[in-house]
Amino acid sequence: MDAKQWGVYVHIPFCRQKCFYCDFPSFAGRERYWEDYTGALCREIAVRGSYYRQLWGRPATIYLGGGTPSVLPAKLMAQLLTKLRQVFLADDKAEEFTVECNPGTVDEAYLAMLWEQGVNRLSFGVQSFDDELLRRIGRIHSGQQAAEAVEMAKKAGFTNLSLDLMYGLPGQTLAQLQASVKQALALSPKHISIYGLQLEEGTAFYRMQELGKLNLPEDEVAEAMYDYMTEYLPSQGYERYEISNFAQPGFASRHNLSYWQDVPYLGLGAAAHSYLDGQRWAALADLDHYMEAIRENRIPVEPEEPATAAIAMEEFCFLALRTARGISREKFRQKFGRELDDLYGTVMKELFAKKLLADDGRCIFLTSQGMKYGNLVFEKFLLDEQDF
Ligand code: SF4
Repeated sequence: MDAKQWGVYVHIPFCRQKCFYCDFPSFAGRERYWEDYTGALCREIAVRGSYYRQLWGRPATIYLGGGTPSVLPAKLMAQLLTKLRQVFLADDKAEEFTVECNPGTVDEAYLAMLWEQGVNRLSFGVQSFDDELLRRIGRIHSGQQAAEAVEMAKKAGFTNLSLDLMYGLPGQTLAQLQASVKQALALSPKHISIYGLQLEEGTAFYRMQELGKLNLPEDEVAEAMYDYMTEYLPSQGYERYEISNFAQPGFASRHNLSYWQDVPYLGLGAAAHSYLDGQRWAALADLDHYMEAIRENRIPVEPEEPATAAIAMEEFCFLALRTARGISREKFRQKFGRELDDLYGTVMKELFAKKLLADDGRCIFLTSQGMKYGNLVFEKFLLDEQDF
């Protein structure tokens, strides 16, 4: 029997080209690192991974994200997956084993290899099916390639597929978003994630916006896009189980849910985040520093400041509030030895009155209005020192 529920995240910090909106820790043009990085990662899996495997048993979920994991050549990806299986799964299977794929980087043979290696879920970064829009945001694939990649994945054996879409993109119209959502649904994915464009410092779009060269949709148009997908997807059988995530019944991402439900996870690879023993850790983001640490048998992570009780409580609430289930009073009590209502009673009352928050007796959770204006709710869950 598994001793503990936990997950494994593996970071592949490479992309073919940097999308104009992206501030994730990923690098284009670092092909010369691919082989050595994979070797370092396999070593980290063998050492740190084995340690936690012995301590906690088989992880419920394994997730390869990035970056673009599927940018790794088949030989290196197979080497990495083999090591993950050996260390974490032995002859068993992970309940959920996901690889993020860019549709412009896979073919039939590659997808068949992933399936044979025990991967049972793929998450495709599609963003839109509109070629002009894809080009404008720096994606390397067309809408047609995305549809073909999904069909190839099904042919390889995958049934659990997720597609990412984006809204609020430069020049994007409501009609374009609606067309992309419908094209996505026509491919019958089990899961859809939809993200609004965020302008992050350091990205090409951020610079363009500063120069007044980014033609973003008007606020009312972006809001209409949001309203459309939050109403349309549930009407098509996709339950909204988190602010940005929709799934057919039974296909919510277990791995992502664990982030929001206070389940520990081990992050492996440069820039990977871990949440272990109640503390959050970030691995070294610089590739050379990461690989040097592995070569020298050092743990390639730097502990973040230990979280104060107030920060731990705030984080717990922010993450749980993102999910449809919300914050469980019982879990809060078990974890912190305090009553949620004692700390947040006044705030909760105010948010109930504004119909941003609801209560079923056991949990408090965001209403659909609350999900739309999530930040207004989250900021109310910040604690003052005097609350203690
Ligand atoms: S493929 Fe994904 S990780 Fe890579 S640059 Fe684009 S959005 Fe960022």
